[in-house]
Amino acid sequence: MMNYFSTSMMCADVFRLQEQIKTIETYTDFYHIDVMDGHFVPNLTLSFDYIKALRKRTKKPIDAHLMMTNPGEFVDLLLEIGVDYITFHPRTIQKDVFRIIKKCKENQVKFGVALSPSIGLEAIQYYKNHVDKITIMTVEPGFAGQAAIPEAIEKIKEVYAYRQAHHLDFLIEVDGSNNFSTFETYKQHGTDVFILGSTLFKEEDLEKSYQKIIQFIEDIHG
Ligand code: MG
Repeated sequence: MMNYFSTSMMCADVFRLQEQIKTIETYTDFYHIDVMDGHFVPNLTLSFDYIKALRKRTKKPIDAHLMMTNPGEFVDLLLEIGVDYITFHPRTIQKDVFRIIKKCKENQVKFGVALSPSIGLEAIQYYKNHVDKITIMTVEPGFAGQAAIPEAIEKIKEVYAYRQAHHLDFLIEVDGSNNFSTFETYKQHGTDVFILGSTLFKEEDLEKSYQKIIQFIEDIHG
């Protein structure tokens, strides 16, 4: 499998964004935009206006990770803005998930789900064959830079085994705690997409930071 790198824009330096975006554009495969509403998670982050502004600057895939209680109400807006992936938390779309899936597919937008640490594959039992990406959260959603919850590794294995057994082709992504002490385990258990946040941006030289991380991950035997 290929390794893909998704950049968590909430971790970028807002005061250096103009400069950072040029480097990000060179190295990233996806833009990961965390949208939090202060209800589903105890934080507020990036907005739909931010995604709209970013859309004008890049043709690379934009993934909107919706951590909000009513994401279904914003799907039309996101389709209008032109995102490539929308990633939902299962319990926020229970009432109309098949309608949302249909809408995404009709608009050639990929449908993703994010599983919080306590949420298993059974939460998406009746629609897991429709997902284009499963994001395994190795931390509770809400904040960058948290330590990994070790149980999440079991889930990466389980999701990977499910994909193999059913010959499916959804992407397996890890959100939270992607760093030099976890990359190897995450890759070896089947991660395709690494969301890079605090580890990437903590280096002063963003370009070197990307190169170091990408090289490190490429060198791991999967
Ligand atoms: Mg996220």
